[in-house]
Order: sequence, then structure tokens, then C-alpha cells
Amino acid sequence: MELYELTIHEAQELLRKGEISAVELTQAVIERIVEVDNQVKAYLTVTPESALEQAREADRRQAAGEDHSLLGIPLAIKDVICTKGVPTTCGSRILENFIPPYDATVIEQLRQRGAVILGKTNMDEFAMGSSTENSAFFPTRNPWDLSRVPGGSSGGSAAALAADECLGALGSDTGGSVRQPAALCGVVGLKPTYGRVSRYGLVAFASSLDQIGPFGKDVTDCTIMLQAIAHYDARDSTSVDVPAPNYAQALVPDIRGMRVGVPREYFVEGMQPGVETAVRSAIEKMADLGAEVDEVSLPHTEYSLPAYYLIAPAEASANLARYDGVKYGYSHPEVEDVWDAYRQTRQNGFGPEVKRRIMLGTYALSAGYYDAYYLKAQKVRTLIKRDFDQAFGKFDVLVAPTSPTVAFKIGEKVDDPLQMYLSDVFTLSLNLAGICGISIPCGFADGLPVGLQIMGDAFAEEVVLRVAYAYEQSTEWHRRRPEL
Ligand code: GLN
Repeated sequence: MELYELTIHEAQELLRKGEISAVELTQAVIERIVEVDNQVKAYLTVTPESALEQAREADRRQAAGEDHSLLGIPLAIKDVICTKGVPTTCGSRILENFIPPYDATVIEQLRQRGAVILGKTNMDEFAMGSSTENSAFFPTRNPWDLSRVPGGSSGGSAAALAADECLGALGSDTGGSVRQPAALCGVVGLKPTYGRVSRYGLVAFASSLDQIGPFGKDVTDCTIMLQAIAHYDARDSTSVDVPAPNYAQALVPDIRGMRVGVPREYFVEGMQPGVETAVRSAIEKMADLGAEVDEVSLPHTEYSLPAYYLIAPAEASANLARYDGVKYGYSHPEVEDVWDAYRQTRQNGFGPEVKRRIMLGTYALSAGYYDAYYLKAQKVRTLIKRDFDQAFGKFDVLVAPTSPTVAFKIGEKVDDPLQMYLSDVFTLSLNLAGICGISIPCGFADGLPVGLQIMGDAFAEEVVLRVAYAYEQSTEWHRRRPEL
């Protein structure tokens, strides 16, 4: 076995016993990146010298008797999370030369725990998309089939992990951007409850929906990553001051008597038959393990997608107003006056999908349309939240597919925004409701990974992790890796 193939928990053990050093591990992962990233194209920036320096520091801390959960573990970070002194482009031309003067809170937390940051991963521009094809730089490829997308918008992080180009990664999830690429790349991805993880230093897309989440090769790794970043942060006014439990205690392979709901609205016409088969057999497996499985209805599910595509663009149109070519980022040269400067900077700095969202959002917020669109969408959001409240009155978790299809071909959906938006039809509603969810591997369809989504109530990460772990431990899906 190669060092880059290790999980975080396996590497931790070897590091603690002194059988490997952080420098050896980091070196192995950097060599892996050099070997395969010209095919996968998961990274926008790799910082090998800095990574090796961090690894040496981790070895020094270990020698000095320090013991931390991520000491010496090489990780990849989505390029929407600010890293001091390292470019943070958000996959956009407008931030191509932006170098943040500070670390996001999650980066500080990873560093405190001794993590080694390898670099920044590719993404759809400003996290708007489901395939990573909206990156202004290049598309990332799915390690299971290089002619296919890795999902998005955190496609670079998911692909890097699936290709063993890191041991764990961070992404952001506004409508599914951690869970959907995790599903399409055959890894584990978690969207924490809104407010569980600090958004300080996460470049904003839709502030009431955005949440940073971890990717791991298995549920245990995802749990270790979550533990590192789930803290209250006074610098994020939506961070919730609830102490995080010891999530590792939730990892018991026993779900006897747990109540698992299967929302009927999540098994729709048009979903890929192989996806439904894999998910249905995962649900049967849970019943075999002693869970009480029953059907449930979330009646407002069909309104999630339209509500999301009003609320998210509305917030984006406000958040992206800051890219004016004055304070930071791209500034168009040779302009006539201030209005021309704004126009040219934004015209040349943003890609087509970002412009589409800004226009949609501006329209939905404009006088005369606000009540009909934005306000109405907010009311629908409340109904969606109530559906979940009722369901969690009866069930511990809800289970469904993460994505209606497996990884699709590069180019297949780029010209059809609605088809692309439908990739997140099963994930968006969790962001609207602010609750948590995980995607874990549950089989294959047409040779490509299928993800099972396990949804939990707000701050019920422990429950979600327990069910995910019990299922994972009774299967072998998470051990499969693509051939590269
Ligand atoms: N695909 C969805 C969108 O384009 C969700 C993206 C996300 O979660 N960042 O908005």
C-alpha cells in the first residue's frame, strides 16, 4: 500500500507510533499529485514547499510531545476559503490575482491541529454549478472516468480525494456542493447544520445557505475533519454557540431500533434506474441491521428547486456587488469613467453562469417583483422547514439518493442550465431548512459511484454519522478506489 492511499485515521496511527513521518507522508502525496493531476486537474494551486515546511513543523510538534487530531495530515482546500498568502480565486477571473491577507477560521482551526495544507482545489465560479465546468480556468475530471464531471461545485476537492491526491478536503455546500460531488466521486461528504461551522473567511455566495463541510475517504475521516472545524466563532454572526459533542462517540456500528424515514418525493420519475436500485438496496440493508424503516412524505419538496433558485441568486446578487474593480480583484484597464469601469470589470471578470445568477437575483429583488418572487420563496422555505420538522418528530434520519444520476459527461449539460440545476434536486432542500446531511458511497450504476444521502435534524450530526458509520461498516463500497 502506498502512503497516499491511507485514510486519515490509518495515517494518524502510523504517525503516532512513529512508523512514518509527516514529511514522508506529505512527500508521497505531493508525488501523487505530480503523477496524476495533469489528468484529473483537481488543483488550481499546489504549494509543495509550504506543505513540506508545514510537515516538518508537524514532525517537530510531534517530537515535542504534542498530540492533535490532524497532526501531519495533508489536506486540500476548496478555492473559496481564504488562505493567508495563497491565491484564493473562487474559480473566477475576477479574483485570479487575489491573495487573502488572512486565514479563514476553519483554516486556523486546521493549522492549530497540525494539518498540512497542500493547496487549493478547482470549483465552479463562485460555487455556482454542479460540475466544476463553470470554473474560469479548466474543468476537473472524474477519477472514475476522465471523460466525466466530478460534480460540483466542490468538484476539485472531491476529485482530489478520490484520486488520492490528499487525505481529506474541505468544500462548501450552498445547495449540495459537498454532497453531490462526494456522491459522483465515490467519497464521503458532509454538510453540517447551518451555524455549526464558521463562515468567516468563506467567500460568500448565498449567506443564508452557505456552509463549509468536510470530505473524507470514509465516515471516520469525515468525523475527524468535522470535529476540527465545528466550533463557535464570534467573527461569524450566524455561528451558533452550542458546544460540539465528541462525534467519535457516535461511531458505533449499531442502529437497532433507529427510525429511518424514506421520503417518497425523493424517488422521482427521470432518476437513473441504477441509482434507485443501489439506494433501495442500501435502505434494505439498514432494515437488516435492525433499523425501523418507513415511508414519509415531505409534501413541499417540489418547490425546493424554484425557491432555491430565487433565494440563492438574490443573495448572490447582493454579495457579488462588492466586485467593483476598486477594492480588490480584477480591474479593467482603459475605461472612460466610473460607470464604464464597473461595467467593463464585471463584464470581463465574471463568467456566464455568474452573470445569469446576478440578473436572476436582481430581478427577483427589484421593486414590484420582490413580493411575487423573493418574499414568496421565503414563505415556501418556511413550509419546507416545517416538512422536515414534522418528519423529524417521527424519524431519527431520512434517507434518499444524493443525486438523481451518476457522473455525467463533460459538456453534456453545460448548455442547459435547468438540467444542470436538477443535479441538486435532492440536496437543496437541506440548505433551505438549515439541517445537516451526509453522502456516503452505496454502490455503482454503469460502473460509476452512487451516493446515499442521510439527512438529520439541525445539530443532529451525531445521529447522521452513527447511521452512516453503521451502514458503511456493513459494506465494502467505501474501500473501492478508481484506477488511474
Ligand atoms: N449546484 C447548486 C448551485 O449551482 C449548488 C451549488 C452549491 O452548493 N454551492 O447553486
